[in-house]
Amino acid sequence: MAIQTVGIVGAGQMGNGIAHVFALAGYDVLMNDVSAESLAKALATIDRNIERQVSRGKVTAEAKADAMARIKTSLTIADLGPCDLIIEAATEKESVKDAIFKALVPHLAAGTILTSNTSSISITRLASRTDRPEKFMGFHFMNPVPVMQLVELIRGIATDQATWDSLHQVVARLGKTAASAEDFPAFIVNRILMPMINEAVYTLYEGVGSVKSIDESLKLGANHPMGPLELADFIGLDTCLAIMNVLHEGLADTKYRPCPLLTKYVEAGWLGRKTQRGFYDYRGDVPVPTR
Ligand code: NAD
Repeated sequence: MAIQTVGIVGAGQMGNGIAHVFALAGYDVLMNDVSAESLAKALATIDRNIERQVSRGKVTAEAKADAMARIKTSLTIADLGPCDLIIEAATEKESVKDAIFKALVPHLAAGTILTSNTSSISITRLASRTDRPEKFMGFHFMNPVPVMQLVELIRGIATDQATWDSLHQVVARLGKTAASAEDFPAFIVNRILMPMINEAVYTLYEGVGSVKSIDESLKLGANHPMGPLELADFIGLDTCLAIMNVLHEGLADTKYRPCPLLTKYVEAGWLGRKTQRGFYDYRGDVPVPTR
């Protein structure tokens, strides 16, 4: 099925990045949120981020104007019903996502493909509560969406091949690369990345290395562009802990147990960059290790 109109539910960090890349690729975007303030903020963020691309010569001023004109907003979720593709990128809570799909279903066109950008919730379970599990998939963008090249395409147990093919074509039109994943906890990227970050926290917890020596070791010894603790601060330590809990519970294997030191940082409200403190303290001019 040719996809042209795209509905995005949730205009937060991920929703605005997704709207940005779809509008630049020529899709008509309708963005929905429960908060008018989030929608206004998302439009301002997209404008600023595309403007940065214009100033770097990556996007023309004309392409920017066209893209901005293709993004519309609505506070009424039923307005998204006729879209060819809907991408749910709202708060990572299963009850929130269930309520969104329940509200959408009575208004959907027959051919509409439903997707969720969830990082951890079962696609099969979300799909089973809609009227079209065969047209439902995980569509997992990475943060920040305009920069990151990968999109994970996650099949639920009922997803049909035509739906997967349609989304694969969309990813190509966005100029990104798709990786196909089955619907098991944390899919591919986070299944591998989070245990590595968790192990870095254990390495710190057990006193094997300091924050600085652990990050330097992985940067200089494994050629990682960012150390694992620096990366954890960037992602958010609450998000890292939530994903480790999904792996631990979903795969029932003790090798995924979250490090107690990670839990302690989250309990302290030291969640990384977003709260100005995590494995580093960001309140000064340069980040200072907290251990
Ligand atoms: P966010 O908190 O920045 O944005 C969530 C938005 O959803 C908010 O604007 C909120 O007002 C809106 N919202 C809440 N309930 C809603 C409803 N019922 N209807 C419409 N909008 C509603 O969160 P985010 O970081 O953008 O994450 C969104 C999704 O993307 C989550 O499922 C998350 O797991 C996933 N994700 C996040 C990242 C990341 O690094 N942040 C990466 C990949 C995937």
